[in-house]
Amino acid sequence: MSVAAPTILLIEDEPEMRRFLRAAFGTQEYQLIEAPTAREGLAQAAARNPDLILLDLGLPDGDGLDLTRQIREWSRTPIIIISARGQERDKVTALDAGADDYLTKPFGVDELLARMRVALRHAARVGAADEPVFETGGLRVDLARREVSRDGVTVHLTPNEYKLLVTLVRHAGKVLTHRHLLREVWGANAITQTHYLRVYITQLRHKLEADPTQPRLLLTEPGVGYRLRSE
Ligand code: CA
Repeated sequence: MSVAAPTILLIEDEPEMRRFLRAAFGTQEYQLIEAPTAREGLAQAAARNPDLILLDLGLPDGDGLDLTRQIREWSRTPIIIISARGQERDKVTALDAGADDYLTKPFGVDELLARMRVALRHAARVGAADEPVFETGGLRVDLARREVSRDGVTVHLTPNEYKLLVTLVRHAGKVLTHRHLLREVWGANAITQTHYLRVYITQLRHKLEADPTQPRLLLTEPGVGYRLRSE
């Protein structure tokens, strides 16, 4: 990451919400740009090239989902949706449109800041060369050697289990939708086969979790997808 404070573009029409976030970021090392409309948000995203975008879905002149798709045509800047729409369907649609994360209003500042840190870290990782070794909570994945271990003990995975784990590792901390995971591991024809995932996630939990019934690494986002803990 650059030495300068990360620039956050907040696209949100509600003045109270903007005031709330302005206050929340007051003590943080962030530079905040505010845009009250989709049009202004798109212009600012292009002109200022922010490090992260916080995006409301219900904007007066357009929908945040369309804006997400538009921005994704040319930018990889992390986008976190902040919305009152809390339906699973809305989350899945937003994530599949290219958003990185989704927070339902009302949310706590600490939760938002934590998600922002994950998104910024992830963006920095994607920008840099791939790190060959990923570690979290006793799990170690050596991507160069294709070796997986838990608490120092080698774990043997089938090719698809490994592929699924690596997909989660490459996006650690982020929610990945069922569709996204199925496409990455089994291909575009399998995107509706959610039961594949259930089976393979269960297998991975048995191999990787201390207690597979109380997962601490491979987390379920009900109705949406899965997230690999990143710290
Ligand atoms: Ca709104």
